[in-house]
Amino acid sequence: MGSTPTRIDRAPWYAKKAYSSRTIQVGGTAVTLMQPTFTTDRGLIDADTKIRYMVEDARSVLSRAVLIPDANRISPLLGELFNPENKMDFSPSMAWGTIKPKLIKIQKNLAAPHSIKVVGTLDTGGMGSVKFYNDGTGDIHLAKRLFEAGLRGNATLTYLHEASHKYAGTVDHAYWKKLTGVWRDNRIHWCYDPKITNDQALNNADSFAFLLYHLPGPNWRY
Ligand SMILES: [Zn+2]
Repeated sequence: MGSTPTRIDRAPWYAKKAYSSRTIQVGGTAVTLMQPTFTTDRGLIDADTKIRYMVEDARSVLSRAVLIPDANRISPLLGELFNPENKMDFSPSMAWGTIKPKLIKIQKNLAAPHSIKVVGTLDTGGMGSVKFYNDGTGDIHLAKRLFEAGLRGNATLTYLHEASHKYAGTVDHAYWKKLTGVWRDNRIHWCYDPKITNDQALNNADSFAFLLYHLPGPNWRY
């Protein structure tokens, strides 16, 4: 009836998320932590410590992984993650020949200065994302809830998963998931969902993240 609603133009900042950024030193390397400035996307509490622990844990496991002299030392783990087809002639050394150069790329890049965006929610609805695979642009995004209590290790795991996309060009053929009661013993099993081939596993982000996750050593504080 008569009155036209006032049209409010959206300010330019509405379309593009505004981030506050701070640079922290982790092992002498600058890591830029970016968080949305909006109150609806409130930032991490005690962010510096959490990010520092996560980066330290990731670097620690990566630096050990790239020094593994002989793939046979971790052959059960390589078999579990990189031989989903259960091939009799699976060779841990051959798989390692493909895996190791990718781990070196991830290790070098996470040891260098980089940015990490921690956001309340991701467009994908997942725990992490990175926009462009394997071209070095686009920040690693992590969901804030990864740093909440009860999700120990998940931030580091997700960080490694996203870093494998960003720096080693991995894709998501399948996620490594916990399934209960799918075998007769009714225990919890982990497997790829959906099933993938051995070749796909060699370029699958979760295969790399969980390989690193299962190597002995770090505390996985975040
Ligand atoms: Zn992914």
